[in-house]
Amino acid sequence: MTGTAVTNWAGNITYTAKELHRPHSLDALRTLVADSARVRVLGSGHSFNEIAEPGGEGVLLSLDALPPLVEVDTAARTVRVGGGVRYAELARQVHRHGLALPNMASLPHISVAGSVATGTHGSGVTNGSLASAVREVELVTADGSTVVIGRGDERFGGAVTSLGALGVVTSLTLGLEPGYEVEQHVFTELPLAGLDYETVAATAYSVSLFTDWRAPGFRQVWLKRRTDQPLPDFPWAAPATEKMHPVPGMPAVNCTEQFGVPGPWHERLPHFRAEFTPSSGAELQSEYLMPRRYALDALRALEAIASTVAPVLQTCEVRTVAADEQWLSPSYGRDTVAVHFTWVEDTEAVLPVVRRVEEALDAFEPRPHWGKVFTTPAQELGGRYPRLAGFRELARALDPAGKFTNAFVREVLGG
Ligand SMILES: Cc1cc2nc3c(=O)[nH]c(=O)nc-3n(C[C@H](O)[C@H](O)[C@H](O)COP(=O)(O)OP(=O)(O)OC[C@H]3O[C@@H](n4cnc5c(N)ncnc54)[C@H](O)[C@@H]3O)c2cc1C
Repeated sequence: MTGTAVTNWAGNITYTAKELHRPHSLDALRTLVADSARVRVLGSGHSFNEIAEPGGEGVLLSLDALPPLVEVDTAARTVRVGGGVRYAELARQVHRHGLALPNMASLPHISVAGSVATGTHGSGVTNGSLASAVREVELVTADGSTVVIGRGDERFGGAVTSLGALGVVTSLTLGLEPGYEVEQHVFTELPLAGLDYETVAATAYSVSLFTDWRAPGFRQVWLKRRTDQPLPDFPWAAPATEKMHPVPGMPAVNCTEQFGVPGPWHERLPHFRAEFTPSSGAELQSEYLMPRRYALDALRALEAIASTVAPVLQTCEVRTVAADEQWLSPSYGRDTVAVHFTWVEDTEAVLPVVRRVEEALDAFEPRPHWGKVFTTPAQELGGRYPRLAGFRELARALDPAGKFTNAFVREVLGG
């Protein structure tokens, strides 16, 4: 426990809970859960909204003092990972066994359980969200007992990207693949006019476009090529002549190796190195995930409001995510284009622009990233998640008294 204010990573949210409970054993965790009326788990705190807020007298719980479970099964090609473990540690151990995760987010600093709970993703037309790697979830539910939900269980579609609303995730089992190497190539100044987005997005295993919307087109393109796949031609933009950071003015030393130097998957798939501050460190973020067929129209709609967006923007990143099967995943059931905004650290200045972006993207069925800043009304969100009722039912079945519910979740679930 701590006596000081508990905040998220960005510092824009101070949780009402006066202390962070950090049980040292699973038994202590079970007792705490069973004895508390309201509970929310804080992962690594990298969300930008009140998704983890317990509210009122609720208990805020961290799993970071539990023994950091990472159990690799090389024969089954799976790993069982504890509910407080971060991707950096998971990836190191998986790599040591010659195995790999299919994808990672832009940073390895985030907890696995917190990431898959919000539909966190990397990029790649054939890569699903990080939740797609999950095979089984182990939860401590309201009375302190354990529930295990695996693929094949009809509840599985609601169990992984669950916004923390079903219970405390004490472990996850993820599918692995043989280890692979990746090289990273950065290009500069890709025009939006005449862009064949589908082709560009498919040139490598993972592709990101970055713009500041201060001038037409994209300032940077990051291609992450698996060395077991062909080296793409990229005739649309010029190769970078120096190492780059996606946020203008930030040092490239914080970023993973570029210039086509091959390296292990976990040291190339994230943009940011585990031992440095990711992104700019002083920021807010928003992101909207839309059917990929709308990519060009959505980018043109943003270009039309560039003069509104640019003054409060540090960088905007465009990625792809393959459709997945988690009912509350922003990429549920549709191949997706994800447009991300790293804003300046000024909520008052940013919120009106977030609303403007949401208006501009409204026609493209955007689903906001659950862990970032958005203002989309609940009734609109509900219409964008065809399996929301199924999730509501699952939450009621596993947590009838709403112990793991908070204002954020109530709003999303509609009451
Ligand atoms: C610099 C930066 C870069 C980012 N890059 C990306 C990116 O590339 N792609 C992307 O999609 N997102 C990205 N994000 C967003 C981030 O991945 C999500 O906000 C993610 O949820 C962070 O995980 P966390 O553990 O910090 O979650 P938290 O904010 O701590 O929690 C998120 C949710 O998970 C729940 N939760 C956490 N652990 C558990 C548990 N053990 N049991 C039950 N519920 C739990 C919490 O209650 C909460 O509801 C980025 C964020 C930052 C700050």
